Amino acid sequence: MNFMMVIRAGVMGFCMGVRRVVRLVEETAANNSGRVIMTLGPVIHNPQIMERFARLGVRVAGSAREVEPGALVIVRAHGVPPADWDQLKERGAEIVDGTCPNVIASQKIVGKYSNMGYSILIAGDRNHGELRGLAGFGSDVHIIDNPEDARTVQLGGKILLLAQTTIKKGEFELICRILGERQKDILIRDTICPATEERQTSLANLKAHCSAILVIGGRDSANTRRLTMTAAEGGFPAWQIETAGEIPDAVYGYPSVGLTAGASTPDFIIDQVEERLLNR
Ligand code: SF4
Repeated sequence: MNFMMVIRAGVMGFCMGVRRVVRLVEETAANNSGRVIMTLGPVIHNPQIMERFARLGVRVAGSAREVEPGALVIVRAHGVPPADWDQLKERGAEIVDGTCPNVIASQKIVGKYSNMGYSILIAGDRNHGELRGLAGFGSDVHIIDNPEDARTVQLGGKILLLAQTTIKKGEFELICRILGERQKDILIRDTICPATEERQTSLANLKAHCSAILVIGGRDSANTRRLTMTAAEGGFPAWQIETAGEIPDAVYGYPSVGLTAGASTPDFIIDQVEERLLNR
C-alpha cells in the first residue's frame, strides 16, 4: 500500500467577502420562501455553489434590466455601479447588499477623489465586474489593464491611482513605476486585498513541503487560475481541479501532495478532495 501525505496550505479557500455573500444568499433564501430571489450575475465563480443556490430557488439575472419587478436581489461581492442600484430601485427590487467591505472602501475612494476633481486610474482587468462597478463611482475613470496602458494613458492634472482588489502586487507595482516616471505627483492608493497575497504566500510556503500541488477551484475563477500558475512555476507538478472527481491519477505517484484553493472554493469541496486522496 502506498502512503501519501496530504498537506493543506495555511490560508486557502473562501475569503471574508465571499464567505459573507454566500451566507447572505443562504440566509435570504431560508427566510423568504415564496418570494422571487435573484442575484445580479453569478455570486461566485464556483459551479457547485451556484448549483446549490439554484436548488434553493435563487435565480441569476444577467443585468439589472432582467430583474423581475419586486424581486429580492442580492448584489455580489464585486459590487455594482450606482446606475445599477438606481435601475433596481426603479424595478421595485429589494436589495440585499453583498458587496465586500473592501470593495466598498475602494468605491468610496473613487467617489471622493472624483468629486475633488481628480482623474481616476484603476489598475486591473477591464472585464472584471469589480472594475465596472468602481468605474461607475467616478466621472473621469480610466482602466489600466496592462503596462502598455500605463505608457499610453493620457496624464496631466490631478490623478489618483488605485488597484483592483485582486490584482497581483507585482503587476500593480510595475504600473505604479511606469506612471510615476511619466508624472511625479500621482496620488496612489494601494487597495489590494490581503486575501490574494495571503493565499499566494501560503502556497509558496506549501511548495517547500510537498512534492506536488492540487489547486481546487472553479475554472472561471481568476484568482484560482493565478494560484495554479504560481503552483506550476519552475515546472513544479501542479494541477487545477474543480471537484474530487477530477483528481488526476498522476497525483497518486507523489509521496506528499499540497492542497490550496481559490477564494471562491467552498470548504466542503476541499474536504472531499482531501478525503478522496487519503482513502483511494
Ligand atoms: S478577495 Fe478580498 S476584496 Fe475580494 S471579495 Fe474577497 S475579501 Fe473581498
